[in-house]
Amino acid sequence: EPRFDTVLDLFAAARREHPDRVAVTYFDGRVTFRELDELSDGLAQHFVEQGVGRGDRVALYLQNVPQFAIALLAAWKAGAIAVPLNPMYRSRELTRILADARPTAVVSSEQGWHDVLGELAGSAGVRVAVTTSELDLQTRHDPRLFARTERRPAAGCADLLAVARANAGQRPPAVELSSSDIALLVYTSGTSGVPKGATNTHGNVVFNSEGMAVRIRESGGGGIFGLAPLFHITGLVCQLGGALAAGRQLDLVYRFEPGVVLDALVEHRPCYMVGPSTAYMALMNHPDVTADHFSSLELVYSGGAPLPAAVVETFRARFGHYIRNGYGLTETTATATSVPAHLEAPVDEASGTLSVGLPTYNTVVRIVDDEGADLPVGEVGEIVIEGPMVVPSYWEKPAETAAGIRDGRLHTGDVGFMDAQGWFYVVDRKKDMINASGFKVWPREVEDVLYGHPAVREVAVVGVPDAYRGETVKAYVSLSRGASAEPEELIAHCKQQLAAYKYPRSVEILDELPKTATGKILRRQLRDTARAAE
Ligand code: ATP
Repeated sequence: EPRFDTVLDLFAAARREHPDRVAVTYFDGRVTFRELDELSDGLAQHFVEQGVGRGDRVALYLQNVPQFAIALLAAWKAGAIAVPLNPMYRSRELTRILADARPTAVVSSEQGWHDVLGELAGSAGVRVAVTTSELDLQTRHDPRLFARTERRPAAGCADLLAVARANAGQRPPAVELSSSDIALLVYTSGTSGVPKGATNTHGNVVFNSEGMAVRIRESGGGGIFGLAPLFHITGLVCQLGGALAAGRQLDLVYRFEPGVVLDALVEHRPCYMVGPSTAYMALMNHPDVTADHFSSLELVYSGGAPLPAAVVETFRARFGHYIRNGYGLTETTATATSVPAHLEAPVDEASGTLSVGLPTYNTVVRIVDDEGADLPVGEVGEIVIEGPMVVPSYWEKPAETAAGIRDGRLHTGDVGFMDAQGWFYVVDRKKDMINASGFKVWPREVEDVLYGHPAVREVAVVGVPDAYRGETVKAYVSLSRGASAEPEELIAHCKQQLAAYKYPRSVEILDELPKTATGKILRRQLRDTARAAE
């Protein structure tokens, strides 16, 4: 049971217990729990003086820098709701989110402010702007990430560390928050359609952060590596929330860059790591990678994107670590099911799908048909989740809330099944189903088969219109470093393992597959490309 009402209570306990422990590292910079508390007090004081109050939104437009943690805590201390913005978003995406969230304040990188946010903030009604530079905190930086970056103070904006330090020692009046107050307003990846903000409450975040901490405590005494971006719910809750709850150090590296990550793993020697499966694929493909890079790790988790069984096996064979799968959505405040630390996930024999694990504590996962009735073991239907981490609503969207979250039950839009032992499997997204001659083809099953080919690095399978079959299966593939394979060979590989209506009729080899900033392969974009080419 959660011991705290709000994430601030959870943080306060960690700070009391070990004030001088390192909370965040950033290259060779260090911020202790005490410093994180004091700096966030100082920034919160600034927010309060500028009129930011309870329920106001504070948008964070930052990469994985320690200032993210300072700003997040400061927003909460002022009673506000933090709205993480994907730092790769540009004008069009930001305008839509700002219009929906209507933040009172923004915290931005200097670069991001100059490039795009500065122009939008005024007309979006933002009254308070705080900027910060990724070059702050007197750290030695990696030239692979910061070749051309320089300090560029922004006119009319307060400097984050300057105001935080100037107000040091001042604690703003405490705002009484409860577990049902919204902590985060997180917009789903938004690969299509109108942005929808999930309202993750303090109770939601505390529940999953504590769940993470239980797992982290099982893995020795080291820190947590920040493989996932903090603006995404996995990074926020599984990494930062987990670190705060467990009182462990979180190692940040600005953004995912395989070579930089490998060096940082050796430098910081974390014991726990979580990130999207594509990050593991990218690390495996790096020319310099060795088992030594991962030697400090005790628990390795993947979440937020499909994890092919073949990737898990290759990773284990090469580096000796078993990657544990976890499944969830922004609406479930990251994790809803995962593979417990002492177990390995089964693989479904018929489809080759790796299980996403067992429901987390106090959570009920069900498989239902189109009418919402429970389906028996083994049958494929929509995944519905009920538990303490399910958001109560979508921000100011009563129709979408009524459609997706009924009586606390989240209808995920994913289809899957449960086996006789209670393990869950995600088959695919409902809307990505391919209808070939009336047969259902789930792209992920075909992708899993292609991942089993040694030359294949990444795959996305889509349906393309076909005059005869309605739709046919097409695969986009990128190859591993130094590997070669012809499309015909990959098609033959699939033909051997899949029913005739499932194997791809065409394979196109690309250098890189398009991905979201969180590292998910943009299947939808490839489908549009394929359709446009028809
Ligand atoms: P958008 O709705 O804008 O496209 P998104 O759905 O990618 O964004 P997230 O909340 O980040 O938004 O992702 C949740 C989705 O990711 C799930 O619904 C599921 O389809 C997929 N997913 C997450 N974890 C796993 C996993 N372990 N295996 C398979 N799929 C997963």
